[in-house]
Amino acid sequence: MQCTGKENCSCTYTSCSRRGNCCQCVAYHKDKNQFPACFFSPEAERTYDRSLAMLLKDRNL
Ligand code: SF4
Repeated sequence: MQCTGKENCSCTYTSCSRRGNCCQCVAYHKDKNQFPACFFSPEAERTYDRSLAMLLKDRNL
């Protein structure tokens, strides 16, 4: 995976040390059975709920 840097990151948790480092971001959330911010709509992303349940709700699945 090629990291594209903070300018392309859709995460609004700006103090996170993993912003712009996609490999660390994915690994962090994978360990928690979660998904990174970029999987969510802007509205759902702002809840900071990265769960599968939120992802399915966000995608109307
Ligand atoms: S999605 Fe999670 S790990 Fe990734 S930058 Fe945002 S808060 Fe950090």
